[in-house]
Amino acid sequence: MIRANYHTHTTLCDGKDSPAAMAEAARRLGFEALGFSGHMDDTYHMDFPLYRETIAGLRAQYAGELDILCGVELDQRWDPATVQGAEYIIGSTHFLSAPGGLTDAVDWEAERSETLCREGFGGDWYRMCAAYYEEEARVWERTRCQIVGHFDLIARFNHACPAFDEEDPRYLGPAREAMEQLLRQGTVFEINTGALNRGRRREAYPALPLLRILRELGGEIILSSDAHQAALLDGAFPQAEAAALACGFSHALVLRHNAAGAVVWEERPLGT
Ligand SMILES: [Zn+2]
Ligand SMILES: [Zn+2]
Repeated sequence: MIRANYHTHTTLCDGKDSPAAMAEAARRLGFEALGFSGHMDDTYHMDFPLYRETIAGLRAQYAGELDILCGVELDQRWDPATVQGAEYIIGSTHFLSAPGGLTDAVDWEAERSETLCREGFGGDWYRMCAAYYEEEARVWERTRCQIVGHFDLIARFNHACPAFDEEDPRYLGPAREAMEQLLRQGTVFEINTGALNRGRRREAYPALPLLRILRELGGEIILSSDAHQAALLDGAFPQAEAAALACGFSHALVLRHNAAGAVVWEERPLGT
């Protein structure tokens, strides 16, 4: 069982609980590490120096008990220069622009995604998904992220409002190309349970067909709850581990401070 989460939101962005409440929840769960990853994007962006100071205070408070890291969820359209000093970056693609310029977030409302598809991509969902993965393929170039956030966010509403087949080659082809590019750039992918643990999707991001491809390509994973509240800090982790094991993964990665204070990757076995 992985006892760490690196995708954590708080009241400093759009979360419901304070950083202190999230740290206390992690301690109660027996976590070895907790990484904060406040939003920096068009919709939510923090006072970054205040955020860093707050997380540094918690790191000192929990020293020896819980390893606390100060990361960020940086949207690829937000200026990377604003997150100086982040210990790790989750690079996320929340917004998509159509060729005519129409732009919207892909994870807000099904109706808004439908409008973007109809007005921006002539109603062709596969064209829209291909455009999303072209954008996603650039997330490392843009953010220099260590972790790719919710890789298939474009499928956010596809369980509740099915619009395209997530096993169709027209969908998987562009997704695979983006994945290959991001793996060449050394990124780690998160299994993000944020929509699963809030009952918004039947499975985590990435969905199983993509997770299988990630495994086949030799990708590495971390587990992320994308928690916006303390009660969901490890929400749906058992399902994420089961999905990873079913796809052939035997371990996940965690981020830890080493003795010299540097942030390093370590492996943890799954299913134990
Ligand atoms: Zn996100
Ligand atoms: Zn998030």
